[in-house]
Amino acid sequence: MRVNIIGAGLAGCECANILARNNVDVTLIDMKPSKKSEAHIEDNFGELVCSNSLKSSNVTNACGLLKEEMKTFGSLMLEAAEKSKLDAGQALAVDRKIFSEYITEKIKSYSNITVVSKEVTDITEYINREDEITVVATGPLTTDGLTNSLRQYLDIENLYFYDAEAPIIDKESIDMEKAYFMDRYGKEGEGAYLNLSMTKDEYYAFYNALITAESANRHEFDKLMLFEGCMPIEEMAKRGEKTLTFGMLKPVGLVKEESKGKVYAVVQLRKEDEEAKAYNMVGFQTSLKFSEQERVFRMIPGLENAEFLRYGVMHRNTYINGGKLLNSNFSLKKNNNIYFAGQISGVEGYVESAMSGMIVALDIIARLNNRKVEFTTETMMGALSRYISTENENYQPMNANFGIIKGLDEKIKDKKEKYTRYAKRSLNEISRVREEMDYLR
Ligand SMILES: Cc1cc2nc3c(=O)[nH]c(=O)nc-3n(C[C@H](O)[C@H](O)[C@H](O)COP(=O)(O)OP(=O)(O)OC[C@H]3O[C@@H](n4cnc5c(N)ncnc54)[C@H](O)[C@@H]3O)c2cc1C
Repeated sequence: MRVNIIGAGLAGCECANILARNNVDVTLIDMKPSKKSEAHIEDNFGELVCSNSLKSSNVTNACGLLKEEMKTFGSLMLEAAEKSKLDAGQALAVDRKIFSEYITEKIKSYSNITVVSKEVTDITEYINREDEITVVATGPLTTDGLTNSLRQYLDIENLYFYDAEAPIIDKESIDMEKAYFMDRYGKEGEGAYLNLSMTKDEYYAFYNALITAESANRHEFDKLMLFEGCMPIEEMAKRGEKTLTFGMLKPVGLVKEESKGKVYAVVQLRKEDEEAKAYNMVGFQTSLKFSEQERVFRMIPGLENAEFLRYGVMHRNTYINGGKLLNSNFSLKKNNNIYFAGQISGVEGYVESAMSGMIVALDIIARLNNRKVEFTTETMMGALSRYISTENENYQPMNANFGIIKGLDEKIKDKKEKYTRYAKRSLNEISRVREEMDYLR
């Protein structure tokens, strides 16, 4: 059995390392160094294209917990982070050069990994190969040739080209004295949407803050994307002060009986998960700096203390609709010898991308041992696997957050206590899974 991995980024390298360590032959294909995406500049593998932070190390933080789970199975990304770590308090920040050099050297040290430098442009080359499995891990900036080929193989509707994500808010941080359930033209107290209404004064205070807020520094290619017709809320607002009140903040059919005549705009929040622990701000895709998102969006009545489980982001992003196409082990429903890993599979973030490469490797190794490996949604690995493989009308890439993990049996108000319980429960479950994998090196 040979595993072809296309893409030597965070996901591809994590996957290759675990497979090779377990004596599986790997061919790792990357177009580097002869061709690079708009964001990659280094010849090395496992390049961090933007921030040098792998987020919090604390297990009471969702990404911190995810890293702790990954440690149990031996993670190349975390090994490299340990060698390149910088002083950054609770966050795990790294020297990106040392980080990717370490990953590249480790990958090249395996005699059972064959590294091939080539751009893959046709996925059908890898389909139906006898005794071979292929993992597509070409990331959010997958080249056009391969993107087109994947579109044909998977169905045009199920591959996206950019990402325009709205923030996601922790339900418990929303002021329910101010928020109310109602669908447009529906009855108050019923429906899928949570609504937050604004008076004229509140709207203009919010509007003025929005159009003057600071955007995140964008790479040149991100700006190009705006011409493709994907508008962040702040850009839309700049077209005119009433653009939003005639658009996604239109109050029509959403005003409570007692508020009639007083409401000027309504922000709608849509349930993000089955348990309704997280809510998505409808139409609020944005490229504002994270700190500005907090400042401006907390001006909306009801969101004064909002906790952002995910901030809004906008960048070019190629990802498949995992909910329709993938199993929870990241293999294709239509061909279980083809896996997707990394950002292209529908996870979002460095750590999450590496995590998906890890799950793919663990799944392949289990298969080769005639065993199965499954992560429950009590773990962050399992919660993300379930997210990417569950149908969702508004499918968008997801990072680690406590909104997607299975809720606790009892209601715990204190956040720290709640997150500590999540972490404890998850790490127990991960230890159990690891013990069951007695064949794993
Ligand atoms: C501009 C930008 C900034 C981001 N910033 C952050 C951030 O700060 N923090 C964060 O957590 N996440 C960030 N992300 C999201 C995401 O975590 C990273 O993109 C992450 O690197 C994804 O890992 P990956 O393994 O899926 O892809 P990548 O790390 O991008 O690896 C993909 C590899 O595939 C290769 N490749 C691509 N196409 C082909 C082809 N056709 N044939 C052969 N090889 C190919 C590439 O050369 C590359 O080495 C950012 C994404 C983008 C686009």
